[in-house]
Amino acid sequence: MTSRKRKTADLTGIRQRGARFQVRIFGGIDPATGRKLILTGSAATEAEALALRDGFRKQVADHTAVRTNVTLRVLLAEWLAGHQVEPSTRAGYALLIDNFIVPALGEPTLPALAKLGPRPYERLFAELGACRRRCAGKPFIEHRTPRPHECDDRCATHACRPLAASTIRQCHAVLSSAYAAAVRWGWIAFQPDGGRAEATSSGARSGPTDAAAGGVHLGRGMGRGP
Ligand SMILES: [Zn+2]
Ligand SMILES: [Zn+2]
Repeated sequence: MTSRKRKTADLTGIRQRGARFQVRIFGGIDPATGRKLILTGSAATEAEALALRDGFRKQVADHTAVRTNVTLRVLLAEWLAGHQVEPSTRAGYALLIDNFIVPALGEPTLPALAKLGPRPYERLFAELGACRRRCAGKPFIEHRTPRPHECDDRCATHACRPLAASTIRQCHAVLSSAYAAAVRWGWIAFQPDGGRAEATSSGARSGPTDAAAGGVHLGRGMGRGP
């Protein structure tokens, strides 16, 4: 029985490495980064490897079957609330979320975003790289404060200033981390950066300090700035 089962078993995506079985499945495209995803794991026995592989396949099949209808805004708020970081880092993340991510992508639900693939993020990052206010070339007055005020010489016609590449990367890291959390919480079925532990951990390592430094700068940058 066992031997017949083994003979007919589909071992696609599984290979033996020493005493263990490695599982490696192409998982589509990471919605946050637009990169290819590889789901990887290992198991002690062939049967466990088959179960793991089939579980990965199911996750891939359910890719767009997101389990809740929350918006990206809600996900980012929940992620930030549960993220263990220094207050200054948190403030930096909040600035990135409130100023750059939520105005562009806050309202769509996670299922709606999942269906769109990487395009919304690529577009947002391209727009921010041209102008942090994403003005699309439309002239407007950049006021010294969002609160009611008398305009003075600090209120002037908007001049485009690109968002720094490092800050755009921080937005990227925030999105990736929030999506990873959404998977842990069972909000979405698919691990957005599954199998990309290297990219994830290096992003996380460089993230906090950059975001903290960037946050201070960004806080001033949102007005007319230095
Ligand atoms: Zn004004
Ligand atoms: Zn502009």
